[in-house]
Amino acid sequence: MSTFQAPKGTYDLIPPNSAKYLAVREAIAAPLKNSGYGYIETPGFEDVALFARGVGESTDIVSKEMYAFETKGGDQLALRPEGTASVLRAALEANLHKAGSLPVKLWYSGSYYRYERPQKGRYRHFSQVGAEAIGAEDPALDAELIILADQAYRALGLRQFRILLNSLGCRECRPVYRDALQGFLRGLDLDEDTRARIELNPLRILDDKRADVQKQLVGAPLLRDYLCEACRTYHGEVRGLLGAAGVVYEDDEKLVRGLDYYTRTTFEFVHDGLGSQSAVGGGGRYDGLSEMIGGPALPSVGWALGVDRTVLALEAEGVELDIPAATSVFAVPIGDEARRVLFGVVTELRRAGVAADFSYGGKGLKAAMKAANRSGARYAIVAGERDLADGKVQLKDMESGEQGPVALDAVVEALSSRVLG
Ligand code: AMP
Repeated sequence: MSTFQAPKGTYDLIPPNSAKYLAVREAIAAPLKNSGYGYIETPGFEDVALFARGVGESTDIVSKEMYAFETKGGDQLALRPEGTASVLRAALEANLHKAGSLPVKLWYSGSYYRYERPQKGRYRHFSQVGAEAIGAEDPALDAELIILADQAYRALGLRQFRILLNSLGCRECRPVYRDALQGFLRGLDLDEDTRARIELNPLRILDDKRADVQKQLVGAPLLRDYLCEACRTYHGEVRGLLGAAGVVYEDDEKLVRGLDYYTRTTFEFVHDGLGSQSAVGGGGRYDGLSEMIGGPALPSVGWALGVDRTVLALEAEGVELDIPAATSVFAVPIGDEARRVLFGVVTELRRAGVAADFSYGGKGLKAAMKAANRSGARYAIVAGERDLADGKVQLKDMESGEQGPVALDAVVEALSSRVLG
């Protein structure tokens, strides 16, 4: 142990567990790559004002959880707490919305930072894979994204997740609802913080997890009853397309989500094996965000799925991912001459595309075979002076235990055909 530890609320991804994270990222990305989404990568930090304006000054994410700092040059920056604002900023900056046909479809994968109270499933550094479809208002696009997330989770083997769906209305109908809700909330018995929230962000109160608050919310006006005709039709279409695709969802009138930019379709993926941090992913439509950050009107929709919580969900369901052993062949030299020769064989195997590793550090046979075992390699090649004098190496099938000599000049070919087929 060194003097240092990972900072509070963070953890390291270490082999073999780290392979799961890679596999989850790949599994989420695969359906996106297959559906016209291009890869985008943006900086880990941005102008703090981008998040203040985009995500919303009154949200917990911006007001309490942001890692904001001033640089030596006097710039006000923040570590990114989420991906959408940055991706939209980058797309606007590169004029992607003018360069080709709309929507611009992008996917990303990266680290995000929120100064939260750490607990299982809630960290200060976490990882998301996300997707954004920028510049089109089309219920099929909302449906596409939900279907692709569902496909990703299913491909991973998850079953105990649910999709919650709601519409948050648009700039026509939401203000009318907001007024009605504020009127209702002002009549309740709430603490000071929550009362302040009535004026700033009343919809968020619907999401309050406290039982005494939830009890008072019975009978609160529902956005569903205030949706304008256009929003109602749009939402009906999204629901119809999901139904036709065989994607099961639950209508959840109280689903609001913690970011200000959402309009119309909002959704969350929750997993029932995760306790209080049950949201594994979420997203929705954000038709006004581009204008909020100084761009043109670009109705858009997107989601972000949490990699950390997806791994926890897999563990909760007992799903073992099929992760092939990283190493196929492990070379065990006995003596200096064998070390030089087998190192050459390993290099050749690698160049031929066979995953191969080597016993370093001049280990004895026993320790070296242990290392071969640990590597998960299907084959070991062992050679000592006498084998080399005969122009041979011993090839051991680690699964069956069978062992036999193979000519040194044929071993790369023999292993390549066994491993690569
Ligand atoms: P949000 O932007 O808050 O909707 O987050 C989208 C997803 O990212 C969530 O559903 C979680 O899976 C994940 N996530 C958000 N915050 C955290 C966190 N502090 N720790 C771990 N995962 C998180």
